[in-house]
Amino acid sequence: MSGKHDKDKGVNVQVVLRCRPLSDDEMRLHTPVVISCNENRREVCAVQNIANKQIDRTFQFDKVFGPSSQQKDVYDQAVCPMVCEVLAGYNCTIFAYGQTGTGKTYTMEGGARKKIGEFPSDAGVIPRAVRQIFDILEAQNAEYNMKVTFLELYNEEITDLLTLEECSKFTDDKSKKPIALMEDGKGGVFVRGLEEEIVTTANEIYRILEKGSAKRRTAETLLNKQSSRSHSVFSITIHIKENTPEGEEMIKCGKLNLVDLAGSENISRSGAREGRAREAGEINKSLLTLGRVINALVEHSGHIPYRDSKLTRLLRDSLGGKTKTCIIATISPSIHSLEETLSTLDYAHRAK
Ligand code: ADP
Ligand code: MG
Repeated sequence: MSGKHDKDKGVNVQVVLRCRPLSDDEMRLHTPVVISCNENRREVCAVQNIANKQIDRTFQFDKVFGPSSQQKDVYDQAVCPMVCEVLAGYNCTIFAYGQTGTGKTYTMEGGARKKIGEFPSDAGVIPRAVRQIFDILEAQNAEYNMKVTFLELYNEEITDLLTLEECSKFTDDKSKKPIALMEDGKGGVFVRGLEEEIVTTANEIYRILEKGSAKRRTAETLLNKQSSRSHSVFSITIHIKENTPEGEEMIKCGKLNLVDLAGSENISRSGAREGRAREAGEINKSLLTLGRVINALVEHSGHIPYRDSKLTRLLRDSLGGKTKTCIIATISPSIHSLEETLSTLDYAHRAK
């Protein structure tokens, strides 16, 4: 975690930046690169020359991962410390934020396994986190249980990616309980009707991820929606049984949320049209509110607007207070994305 934030301000928000490499197509087209990353100085520089005028802006982050960074580097340096917090009984949230096509899903989920039992070298943050949690708990011979949920939020409606019961008002099957976000009155939140799967091996997580991703695609076609506008939230809850020195039994509970956010172009575009008549659902309320909540946490403002969107209500017990948050902002190095890249860099930098 960033020492500066921890000691000086007591804010546990870490912002790291990842720039993807040019794609094969972009290479073939000789797409100019306008981003340079200096991992040692934790800096990202955007440079472009237009008609003798040079744009040259530098941003610093808690960590910077350049185009040749590997999935393992991102996990080891940014995510692994948070997994240890979760095992110590804290709640943590990791967000992937960025324009569509910059590597949010690649960073979170990574490459698919080619056969059962395999752990791909380009596995993303989710499978790596799960694998490490099991490794640590097993090495400690701990008594524990672990369950996961996987949901999607689109237009402020929740879909369960483990069962794919469309949770909208339009479901006619009355036997299916509608999914609703409930508050327990003690600051906690739960999603009524959401499937929880108990997992006992890292392999099961792969099956769940594959199932969830397939359902995300089906829902996308069936309901005519776009995944670039939806958020997916994968949550792992772990209960660990411990004995105190006095011989009493104690249960430690930690939660890790891994959030693949809607494409950030969804807010910059709607932001540009602010004031005009908007199409229904054009503004991504959850994405906008998340930005405000993070700013309020970082600025120590008294009012944190959790209640203004489903995403922030859902993650309320895992954002702010003693919990730790990591934002992985993803960008493309291409000249064609420069405008969106600058807006991602600005957004991510403001969250620091
Ligand atoms: P997003 O989820 O932000 O829309 P994706 O994760 O789908 O973006 O990434 C877009 C494409 O770029 C995918 O084909 C993905 O495999 C590739 N990609 C993204 N980041 C990287 C990276 N760091 N290294 C290699 N390929 C990447
Ligand atoms: Mg994606």
